[in-house]
Amino acid sequence: MLIKRFARSDDASSPNAGRRRALRAGASTLVLALTGPRLAFANAIVAVRVWPARDYTRVTLETDNPVKFQQQLMESPNRFVIDLDEVDLSPALRDLVSKIQPNDPQIMQVRVGQFKPGVVRMVFDLKAGVKPQSFTLPPVAGYKYRTVFDLYPAVEPDPLMELLAKSGHKAEALAQNTPPSRPSSGTGTPSTEESEAFFQRYAQRDAGPRASRPASPPAGDRMPSLAQRNDDGLLTLPSRGPKTARLLTIALDPGHGGEDPGAIGSSGTYEKVVVLQIAKRLREKIDAQPNMRAMMTRDADFFVPLGVRVQKARRVDADLFMSIHADAFTSPSANGASVFALSERGATSATARLLEKTQNASDLIGGVNIKTNDRAVAHALLDMSTTAQIRDSKVFGTALLAEIGTVADRLHSKYVEQAAFAVLKAPDIPSVLVETAFISNPKEEQSLNDPAYQERLANALLKGIKAYFAKNPPLAKNRTA
Ligand SMILES: [Zn+2]
Repeated sequence: MLIKRFARSDDASSPNAGRRRALRAGASTLVLALTGPRLAFANAIVAVRVWPARDYTRVTLETDNPVKFQQQLMESPNRFVIDLDEVDLSPALRDLVSKIQPNDPQIMQVRVGQFKPGVVRMVFDLKAGVKPQSFTLPPVAGYKYRTVFDLYPAVEPDPLMELLAKSGHKAEALAQNTPPSRPSSGTGTPSTEESEAFFQRYAQRDAGPRASRPASPPAGDRMPSLAQRNDDGLLTLPSRGPKTARLLTIALDPGHGGEDPGAIGSSGTYEKVVVLQIAKRLREKIDAQPNMRAMMTRDADFFVPLGVRVQKARRVDADLFMSIHADAFTSPSANGASVFALSERGATSATARLLEKTQNASDLIGGVNIKTNDRAVAHALLDMSTTAQIRDSKVFGTALLAEIGTVADRLHSKYVEQAAFAVLKAPDIPSVLVETAFISNPKEEQSLNDPAYQERLANALLKGIKAYFAKNPPLAKNRTA
């Protein structure tokens, strides 16, 4: 505890005696503050929450009124010191100490103490250097004022480097196989057998020595987009030679997380929890394929801003992007799964319009630092043509619906719906948002929690992905025979 720093006994004859006397004076003030009549400040701490993740660890103080604070980053040892003004050392604040988990990537421990009357000091002892970002969020969606301390690691994890580290051996294995025959380019929706056959051929495909993706990423912020339009206007990837094979990369985006729970079922199921479970099951299945790999925009319970989700998918040059959600509606009887693609012209149905509003509100609820949110990037994304992306996304969505329909109790909509979801705006990646079921429907809430149902759903999503690639093989389409 902080108190120790002030209660330490000192040798009054030493050169630092003056400073130490001052410290002792501080200590007596502290004792007064603790034992004298309690100074009650109006600003009550409602809750303290910690969201540890490798991307960043967030500490949130929820209060009745905005909190004034001073912060200081200190080295040797690394620590982050925050003084909260006009705040009492409440039980909620003391609880922060027990909320730091041993596996927190950034924080080793926290010490909280009444620094002086009306000032509470929090000292975060850090595992390594961090880049802190602090900001206040106005009340929204049941939350009061939130003061947010985001501790980013000095070197932020790079999704591309992580993907390459995880799947490099698989890319090599794929590159050493023999070339398959060219997949048929029929126009009908491929049957499951056909798509399995395609995938077996694809898995055995040779790539030749230049086949695999670059072993290291370019120096820039993200890989340059390799996507091109073919004659049909569909997005394809250029071949790197006459016989190119590579791992297909699927970006999986479990919705919400951290401060943003998403929809909440009547039995208390959080959307952010079940969609993460489903995404992890799907990741496992994708990674088990010889020619595919998955990148998750989040694999823990922390918030990822919508724009960052898109940036991560573009960083790894994903072939497909799938955002996974669970629907909610005012009526508990609403049910069924649905799939959405981006819309340039507004939502295609009333449900879609409602969803558009709630999903895009995720950044407000999850909590984004407006100062550092890269508006320039977001703007550039919006300005790009999305017509072909939308067309491909609808084809992808249709393939998914065909498979989900065999698992889900019913489809909420038989066709791919469209809405202006911010998370679907990667201009060069076919992107869909899957509403797996209605969490607001008690029966479907139960299904969403059922591991067996999650497993069936993940299988269906994988089949849908395969069916899409079987009909739209990103490499074969580019081959000059
Ligand atoms: Zn959602």
